[in-house]
Amino acid sequence: MSRVIVIGGGLAGLAGAVALADAGLRVELYERRPILGGRASSFIHPSSGERVDNCQHVLLGCCVNLLDFYARLGVRDRIAFHETIPFIDESSRVSVIGPSRLPPPLHLFPSFLRLRTMGFRDKLSIVRTVAGMIRYVLTQRKTDSLAGRHAAEATSPVSMAAWLAVHGATGRAVEAFWKPFLISALNDELDDIDAEYGIRTAVRAFLINRRGYEVGLPAVPLGDLYAPCIDYIERRGGRVVLDQGVAGISTDGGRVASISLQDGSSVEAGACLSALPFDVLCRLLPADHAANPYFAILSGLSVSPITAVHVWFDRPVTELDYAAVIGRRIQWIFNQSIRDPDAFSTGGGGTYLGLVVSASDEWMKMPQQMIIDQTMEDLGALLPAVRQAELLKAIVVKEGRATFAPRPGCDALRPGPSSPLSNLFVAGDWVQTGWPATMESAVRSGYQAAEALLRARGVRAPILKPELPLEGLMRWLAGKRDI
Ligand SMILES: Cc1cc2nc3c(=O)[nH]c(=O)nc-3n(C[C@H](O)[C@H](O)[C@H](O)COP(=O)(O)OP(=O)(O)OC[C@H]3O[C@@H](n4cnc5c(N)ncnc54)[C@H](O)[C@@H]3O)c2cc1C
Repeated sequence: MSRVIVIGGGLAGLAGAVALADAGLRVELYERRPILGGRASSFIHPSSGERVDNCQHVLLGCCVNLLDFYARLGVRDRIAFHETIPFIDESSRVSVIGPSRLPPPLHLFPSFLRLRTMGFRDKLSIVRTVAGMIRYVLTQRKTDSLAGRHAAEATSPVSMAAWLAVHGATGRAVEAFWKPFLISALNDELDDIDAEYGIRTAVRAFLINRRGYEVGLPAVPLGDLYAPCIDYIERRGGRVVLDQGVAGISTDGGRVASISLQDGSSVEAGACLSALPFDVLCRLLPADHAANPYFAILSGLSVSPITAVHVWFDRPVTELDYAAVIGRRIQWIFNQSIRDPDAFSTGGGGTYLGLVVSASDEWMKMPQQMIIDQTMEDLGALLPAVRQAELLKAIVVKEGRATFAPRPGCDALRPGPSSPLSNLFVAGDWVQTGWPATMESAVRSGYQAAEALLRARGVRAPILKPELPLEGLMRWLAGKRDI
């Protein structure tokens, strides 16, 4: 059985490793940290002793490859799906988006009409922009197939904010609908998001298939979802080496010859799947290879932060499982105690909330206590019970390099899985997957790198799962083809 080295135990590396192990290869995975999961992981917080996720991670029904990965590991049932998405507005009013019997793309329409967070004119503007999005993906598909070129080259990049303005979105529709959804899905301000990414994300989630928008929340700490990986890979003849970073990649001509490890040893590589962050990969390569345009272009990618605030109260403060927040610094509230009281510490009948702020540039340099104060101010205004409750503890987790920033034109900077080194295949949420930086993108990248590696060995094994099928009127509009 031939050996493949996988570098990095985030979702991309794990998905690639699991797929290669399933294809009969002996996988050796090296991860720098003592835990798996990378940017989506759980850890014991040093001063509180609490086991927390670095941040609440949300998936949607359209994340088919991530769900396939969980199914391979036998943890698919640890994801609880929700058919409704509650929004809390500035006056603490709750409105809900949910399903109806109407066919896609109209399935969410009746609940949308009932939203109390905006007026009729704003809703009308959303209908107009959604129609514009459908037109965009249909026309672009036609343009792409006629021109026979990649989507990103077919149009010049424009920001999501500019696109929404041109398509008549009202200020309130942007504030109360597009911002809560797109800033958290793409982790940047609308001015800085490539409209192509925003449109495709909205179309995938809300328009093409009934299940696309459903919100999946892990019912266990993130780390428990990956725990089976080690056994899974070992039972197929491989091994997972934690706490062992890769210090360098040596090449011989146009191939990776070996990788050196942080303990000073080195390992020969028949084939190598890198699932490292893009800046780390470029640092580990010999300078002449890092200068190759395939890698050098990555210096153009920038990053965007996310901040998570975990708070524990001495009593129940909300009956909501989770909610999107309109018009405040906090963007999402997740009630960890309701989800699974056994899996998360509840502080003895109290409440544990996970709060998320994407594109949190302003908080990066702010002292933790000031962040907690601002969070409590927002929470007190949103959930009246918080004002009577005692805050037992609070933890702030700042992730300065949470995702690559989806800036207009960034798609052209994302390389495919096959590198110029003939036995080096590349994965990571930043690789060209057609998705923004998400867990789905990471797993897709791992699967597509595994496919490319197998293809180079003459094995054609389809691993990537196709997007959710078009349903209802979308199928008819698209002429029964993918969009
Ligand atoms: C705060 C936050 C919130 C997020 N929320 C969501 C969400 O709600 N939904 C969603 O879909 N996505 C979310 N994301 C994005 C998601 O977490 C990432 O897209 C995904 O986890 C990236 O996986 P990856 O494997 O590509 O990269 P990483 O997770 O970064 O994996 C890279 C791995 O390589 C390891 N490594 C680094 N250097 C070395 C070395 N020298 N040798 C060996 N190993 C090394 C790292 O330790 C890491 O484990 C969030 C991200 C953050 C940070």
